[in-house]
Amino acid sequence: MQDQTAVHNSQLQFQQLLEKLPAGAYTCDRDGLITYFNSHATRIWGRAPKLNDPADRFCGSFKLFSSDGIPLAHDQCWMARTLENDQEHNGHEIIIERPDGQRLTVLAHANPVRDETGTLVGAVNVLIDIDERKRAEDLLRDADRSKNEFLATLAHELRNPLAPIRNAVHILHLEAAPSPEVQWALAIIDRQISQMTRLIDDLLDIARITGDKLELRKQQVGVEEVFRAAIETSRPLIDGFGHELIVTLPGQPIYFEGDLTRLAQVVANLLNNAAKYTECGGRIWLTGERQGDDAVITVRDNGIGIPAKMLPCIFEMFTQVDRSLERSPINGAPGGLGIGLTLVRRLVRMHGGTIRARSDGPGKGSEFVVRLPMLVELGQTQLDSSRVDREDKQTPAATSLRILVVDDNHDSAASLDMLLRLTGNEVHVAHDGLEAVGMAHEFRPNLVLLDIGLPQMNGYDVARRIRQQPWGNDVALIALTGWGEEVDRNRSKEAGFDHHLVKPVDPAALLALLNSLQQKDQQSAA
Ligand code: ADP
Repeated sequence: MQDQTAVHNSQLQFQQLLEKLPAGAYTCDRDGLITYFNSHATRIWGRAPKLNDPADRFCGSFKLFSSDGIPLAHDQCWMARTLENDQEHNGHEIIIERPDGQRLTVLAHANPVRDETGTLVGAVNVLIDIDERKRAEDLLRDADRSKNEFLATLAHELRNPLAPIRNAVHILHLEAAPSPEVQWALAIIDRQISQMTRLIDDLLDIARITGDKLELRKQQVGVEEVFRAAIETSRPLIDGFGHELIVTLPGQPIYFEGDLTRLAQVVANLLNNAAKYTECGGRIWLTGERQGDDAVITVRDNGIGIPAKMLPCIFEMFTQVDRSLERSPINGAPGGLGIGLTLVRRLVRMHGGTIRARSDGPGKGSEFVVRLPMLVELGQTQLDSSRVDREDKQTPAATSLRILVVDDNHDSAASLDMLLRLTGNEVHVAHDGLEAVGMAHEFRPNLVLLDIGLPQMNGYDVARRIRQQPWGNDVALIALTGWGEEVDRNRSKEAGFDHHLVKPVDPAALLALLNSLQQKDQQSAA
């Protein structure tokens, strides 16, 4: 009698304990019939199941789904599996649909229950309601997605006004003899546009990275090419601060499988940082060498250095060393968004490489070492490092092409119109797709510079229409657009474009392209 009372008391205590749990708890026997449940379980299920009733085996809820929404039969629930394989199944996410149709996400913890001989006699399941947490996570994910979309749109929209400003500045540069004041003002606008373009490009890249849309266009590239492109980008900043750049190339050419533009972006970003974070008149070393099967690129400066505690985190997004107690910004250098190194590391990793930062502390300079797997080693030619620095900045010769400019942004169209006229071409302008097709028909251009997002008919359709004409295949079609992803390039190729230029187009690069098109035209005519 005493024994029975003791057992009864212990059961009562056990049930009181389960009742107090901030989670749904229930037990079943060897056949899956529910033997006990607490009131929290009823709240989760939305009803009370019948005890020891075969109609309410296992979960007692009407419908059950896996976390990705696939319906689960009740004998597939974790409690059933526990009985089947006599094992614990803890922390599994499932969705319960209550009789009123409401769905809840819960974590299930199913465990075997044994008697005093160790024989399996049932199972206990604890359900933890994580619905609110899931909803908060979904909201966060949605907010993050909206933020990324906003960043991409913002960067894209900010780019548009840059094109006409760039063109206008180029036109002013073409003036016969601008006064020193005008030259000074133009140089400022030039520098600021370059800086703004860099910031906007970084923003776009970050939006691509977070949306997993950054793609590499790989080819065989050499260290020398990468250095040349990077130095061309960073030269104005380095010279602007009066730094000395010391370039050392490997004795033998080193090649990797990589995206030239992106690798140049990596090195240029490191060079720009070296320039920004070094007092005027400093020194920057850019070195390429072979170490085993790796190509190693090092950018070192004798600048303000990086505190040891910041070294592990400077590659994280939006991380900037707090220099509020020091001179900031250094040299009056243009500020950044704290995303340059994040981009750099991501790009290096996408190439199968690593990057490491080193500094002996404030005032002791910094060193960034990029290690990339090498592709092949070619020849024995000794390289002349001064070639890397030589800039090919000749103004392209004038062209005499018949050009149709199509852009719904009137400033963009007008500034391109003037730039192209001033460099010897005959130009017509259209502001929407239909007008463009009609004008192309009448004017018969050699070349069409075509924006993609146009009223009436988009640029792809305009290109297709032109290609359908008997004269349409002789026209060079150049897409001018803010979108430069692989998929955008493929789309314009499919629509019949010969070239795809991303805004803001560098006027000098555009004129060089026109030049090569004209030369090709003349060669085929001859
Ligand atoms: P930012 O746009 O701020 O330059 P980055 O991601 O390129 O962003 O760099 C992150 C931070 O790392 C910078 O704010 C700067 O404090 C530090 N840093 C980067 N390169 C150097 C360098 N060469 N010397 C000193 N500090 C550097």
